[in-house]
Amino acid sequence: MAEILKGAPVAGKLNEETERLVEGLLERGIVPCLAIVKVGDRAEDSSYEKGAVKRCNEVGISTLTVCCSNEEDLIRTMDVLSTDDTVHGILLMRPLPKEMNEEEVLRHIAPQKDVDGCTEGSLAGVYAGRSLGFPPCTAEAAVEMLRFYGIPLEGKKVTILGRSLVVGRAAAMMVLGESATPTICHSKTKDLPSECRRADIVISAMGRPEMITADYLGEGQTVIDVGVNWNEKKRKLTGDVDFDGCVGKVSGISPVPGGVGAVTTAVLVSHVAKAAEAFGKKEEE
Ligand code: NAP
Repeated sequence: MAEILKGAPVAGKLNEETERLVEGLLERGIVPCLAIVKVGDRAEDSSYEKGAVKRCNEVGISTLTVCCSNEEDLIRTMDVLSTDDTVHGILLMRPLPKEMNEEEVLRHIAPQKDVDGCTEGSLAGVYAGRSLGFPPCTAEAAVEMLRFYGIPLEGKKVTILGRSLVVGRAAAMMVLGESATPTICHSKTKDLPSECRRADIVISAMGRPEMITADYLGEGQTVIDVGVNWNEKKRKLTGDVDFDGCVGKVSGISPVPGGVGAVTTAVLVSHVAKAAEAFGKKEEE
């Protein structure tokens, strides 16, 4: 039976570290602040926003929410927040409405405040292996899960399912940075089951409910399931991996819900504290 790699203890440890960092900042008179920027009132934004606000408040980070009505308003808001010394992190709720140019809006977020890791500056940092901005939170959360559960990456084969910039590719770059050997798979990959079976670690970020069955996996493997899917047939949230079918075969598996998703917000909040810390250091120079 596999070890169940739950997200809550990972998030708990990250939150403790963030709390300690925030305490030190408050003592120096720096109040870390996250600005959440959104357009309109979408239900999915509101649950992510609520989670982020709750977690920020728990660790002593202040938040403010700005609602914008059009692209011009959004760009102006990003310019103002990017130069406002009392704001340390900016979280833009995405995707933006289709008529808006998301790339253009993202260009107006200062990389050092891009706590969600979505600007070209942050992504360049991930790909160059340098700390420009922050890595995308979900990719970092997947790596944090492995770190917390003591699953070594050095020299290991990691198969990553999904090649999106902010999850699959970013996770591949992050495990490469830990000296693993990543393979990135996508919808055109031939023989996905073999690519999965030959890995020590499988990170799945496809958005395909329970597609990864026990046939794709082998004994001794660790599986990190990033997928979050509404499974219409079962009327519940499921990951990309058939958890019940695989838990008896592999050596470690993260559940959905209760796995990576629980860590993502903790990573986001830790980025706000780190951004405030970097700001404080710059001010002292
Ligand atoms: P995305 O942009 O839609 O990318 C999905 C990737 O999966 C694409 O690269 C796609 O390949 C690949 N793919 C789709 N079907 C496949 C198949 N049958 N075989 C092999 N590869 C396949 O999605 P995303 O934004 O990266 O998100 C991925 C999943 O993570 C989603 O379920 C999302 O809800 C979840 N997610 C979770 C969190 C969290 O906090 N836990 C945060 C963000 C996202 P192509 O490139 O060839 O199309």
